[in-house]
Formats: sequence, structure tokens, C-alpha cells
Amino acid sequence: FCSSNSIFYSKRKPLPLPPNHSLDATTFISSRAHHGHIAFIDASTGHQFTYQQLWRSVDSVTSSLSNMGIRKGDVILLLSPNSIYFPVVCLSVMSLGAIITTTNPLNTSGEIAKQIADSKPVLAFTTQQLLSKITQASPSLPIILMDTNNNNNNSSSSSTTTTTLDEMMKKEPELSRVTERVNQNDTATLLYSSGTTGPSKGVVSSHKNLIAMVQVVMARFGKEQETRETFICTVPMFHIYGLAVFAMGLLAMGSTIVVLSKFEMHDMLSSIEKFRATFLPLVPPILVAMLNNADAIKRKYDLSSLHTVVSGGAPLSKEVTEGFIEKYPNVSIFQGYGLTESSGIGASTESLEESRKYGTAGLVSASTEAMIVDTETAQPLPVNRTGELWLRGPTTMKGYFSNEEATRSTITPEGWLKTGDVCYIDSDGFLFVVDRLKELIKYKGYQVPPAELEALLLTHPAILDAAVIPYPDKEAGQVPMAYVVRNVGSNLSGSQVMDFVAEQVAPYKRIRKVAFISSIPKNPSGKILRKDLIKLATSKL
Ligand code: AMP
Repeated sequence: FCSSNSIFYSKRKPLPLPPNHSLDATTFISSRAHHGHIAFIDASTGHQFTYQQLWRSVDSVTSSLSNMGIRKGDVILLLSPNSIYFPVVCLSVMSLGAIITTTNPLNTSGEIAKQIADSKPVLAFTTQQLLSKITQASPSLPIILMDTNNNNNNSSSSSTTTTTLDEMMKKEPELSRVTERVNQNDTATLLYSSGTTGPSKGVVSSHKNLIAMVQVVMARFGKEQETRETFICTVPMFHIYGLAVFAMGLLAMGSTIVVLSKFEMHDMLSSIEKFRATFLPLVPPILVAMLNNADAIKRKYDLSSLHTVVSGGAPLSKEVTEGFIEKYPNVSIFQGYGLTESSGIGASTESLEESRKYGTAGLVSASTEAMIVDTETAQPLPVNRTGELWLRGPTTMKGYFSNEEATRSTITPEGWLKTGDVCYIDSDGFLFVVDRLKELIKYKGYQVPPAELEALLLTHPAILDAAVIPYPDKEAGQVPMAYVVRNVGSNLSGSQVMDFVAEQVAPYKRIRKVAFISSIPKNPSGKILRKDLIKLATSKL
């Protein structure tokens, strides 16, 4: 699987793309209809719809959007917690060739305003509860409300349109669903990620990227489908993990998905019991919490239906994996590795035997090539040598939106995506993620771009310079830590620094540790030497 020029070819069976070039991701996902099966169940209300109802709703919303004048290439913002309607919006927008951009519901209106300024949406979908965030961020952006139990009459915003998603779903779909032909190379989604450096950028993913991603998800979970699995969705749908698996991949297979609006341990565990769920995709901090409270959890909840937990989005340690298996002997743990820029695809373990290689992120995904590159010499490295992981395949993004410079520094002319992750691949083809070269901090699986927090810290009158680094944390994986250089004469305290940031950012981006320093170490071109600061911060551990 490793050629002489040190390219690692996937050991999985290749998944050729559908030959029809005029194919949108929604049509591909809906091509096997799975009519009578239940697609989604809302965990809190028990409200559900079948595949037949789902695809009819998608057709209705697509026609309504088309009648409203939404066209190929238009960007639509989606700000919503997880809901059974979230996929309906995404799939409808994509089937028109329009582009969906999602954002974290925890983001502040200031953070949302930045994404709006960058992506320039023509329409937004949101809930009554989150409405004010959009109206504050962009007062004139037309908004469609997604709640089913309220109508516009009691909405106070002048931005909301006269229709609601509920009304759109109830309309008779018109026959000609696709008004303009969608090409596999057309853009489908614009999710935001900070990539290897700097602030969040729009990741341009095509229909081809998403179709290839769905093929990988189907090949991954498809084996289990003979026995019809029930999945719990608690990972966020605005992120590639939730979007790829729950709003797209599993729908192509006809699975049943129980949707939780957000993560809450009790709700998740009681939903497993109530709906006899079998599959639970998670991020590592939740596995850690399930491990730490295993005895109490097992006493209180009947988890006997659960046979598989999938962990992705951040590193899962060998200790947690082993501990989890010991505490929950009837549950298998599978790992997945990927990034927004690779449509969530990269590597995964897919069998018990593979998952017993503790600490591995799995085999490189089907139809994907990998290279491990020396971070100093940029030379490709052989098996068992550690360097930056580069990936190339049909799920590699098209680039960053309106940011050629960032695109050029992330995708090579030969099409390799520089992941910013430090990895090695062993002689059996298993990928091990050992460190992160890029600046990115992952707090409970959420992206925290240090550059954004540094820019914010520098606006404080008493701060001369600042750097933000990841600090290891058992529960969250990492927390953002700031090194701050105070202005002469200032007696600014750590808690004042934390409060200053907390007032202006989403809770998951808060600085949770502060240290003062006389100067920030930088290289001759002014780049912060983060590794030195990380060493300094962790030397006492
Ligand atoms: P995102 O774009 O938010 O999905 O973040 C992608 C980054 O999360 C990757 O580049 C890795 O640094 C990290 N990541 C995702 N999955 C894993 C995993 N299984 N093991 C280690 N790191 C991971």
C-alpha cells in the first residue's frame, strides 16, 4: 500500500464516484428512497417522520425556495440547534444548487456578523430563540423561522419573511424540482474552519466532495444496516461531523436517527433506553464523562441495546479507550479522524479487530491517498516516521472561500491537503495522530482559533501583546490559555483578562487560564513561537 514515492494508498476497497456528472448531493442521497422507515425522531417531543415524509418535505421546500427566487450559487445561512428540520433545510438548499453555510448556535451576534460579512447570504433559516442573533448581526437579512409551534404573527422582527419552514413543508411540491442543472463540481456547503492558521474561513465543499463522503459513510456503516440500526444524534449538525453523518450519510442508508437538540448526558442516556438505540457517535469528552460516571450510569439506565460508540473530532487516548471497554464490555468503540477541509473524511476503524489497535485513528479512508511529510525538509517519509499528514482524494475541499492565499498554503498544486496534524502510519496502514502542528485549539471538540482571541486581547487598553495556546485538560481535551504582556504600570489580573474575553465570545471560546510574561517569543518574521509557549505552560505538569 506504500509506493516508492512514499504515497500511502488506502487499503479499503475503492469507491468510484457516480459517472453522471450532473448530479447533486441531495439527489444522490435520496436515490434509495427507504419509504416507510422512520428517518428522524425528535428525542424531546417524540415527533417523527418517515423517509417518505422527509423527501416530500425536501421537495416542497425546494420548490418554495425556487419560487422565492433562490438560485444556484446563492448562499443561505442556517443557524439552528440540532433538529429534525435541520437536514430538510440543508438538503433542499443543496438540491437547488444553492450553498448552505452553518454556524454554531452558541456564537455571539458579533461572531455571526463576521460570517455573514464573509459569506454574504441572501436568506437565513433560524429559530425564534436565536432570531435576535441574526437580526443584530444583519438587520436586513430575510429570515425564515423553523419553529413549528409559532407563526410570524408573534414574531417581533421585521426581517422574518411571511412564510415559515412549516408552511413551506406543507405545500404541494411542484414537479420541476431542479430549475438549473447542478454539476458535481458546484459548491454545496460553506462550513467555517480556521484551518492551519488565522481566523475562521469558509471551507468550500462541492457536491462531489459530499457524494464521496456519503459513499465512505455508507461503506463504513452499511454493513450493519441489514439489522436496521438506530443512531443517537447529539454531535452538532452545524459541524462537518454531524452534517456528514446525520444530515447526509445515514439518510442514504435509511437509518433511524434520534435527534437531541444539544448534548445533555441524562437526555442522551434516557434516549438510548427509550428508543433502544444501537449506535452512538460522540466526541471524546463525552466518552470521558461516560467513563468517569460508568457505575452510576449503568445503575440508572438500561443501555443494553447499545452496541457501538464512535469517537471522532478530537484525539481519544488509549487509556480512555481501554477504560471504556472495561466498563462497557458489550459496547465496541470505533474511531474516526477527519477535518472540515476533507469533508470529515480521513481515517477510521471499522471492525473489532481494527479497533483493538488502541490509539489508532484507523485505516486511511477509501479512495484517499496519504503522505507523511517531514515538517522541516518537506520530504515524504516512510512507514512509522512522524511528520505532517497530507491527504488527497475526492473529499478534499475546493479551497477557502474568497481566500486564495489561505487556499494556496493549504492545498499544494498536486492536490494535497496539508492537515496540520502530526501523524505516522504503521506498516499495516494504520494512522496514528500524535500532535497538532496547526494553531487550532479543540475545546470539547469545538474549534477555537487562537488568532481570533489574540486579536481580541490586543484591543484591551492594558494589553501590549498576547498569545493563545492549547492547555491540556482531562475533561475538555484542551482549554484556551493566554500568555499576556501587560502595559507598563498595569496591574491587570488574570480574571479581568478572562472576563474581558468572555463578554465578547461564545462560551466555548473563553480563555480559561492566564499567565503573564514579559514578551511573547516570536521568530524573526514575527510569528508566535507557540511550541515554546506550550512547552513553558506544560513543563510543570
Ligand atoms: P474540524 O475541522 O473541526 O473537524 O477539526 C479537525 C481537526 O480535529 C483535525 O485536523 C485534528 O486536529 C482533530 N481531530 C479530528 N479527529 C481526530 C481524531 N480522531 N484524533 C485526533 N485528532 C482529531
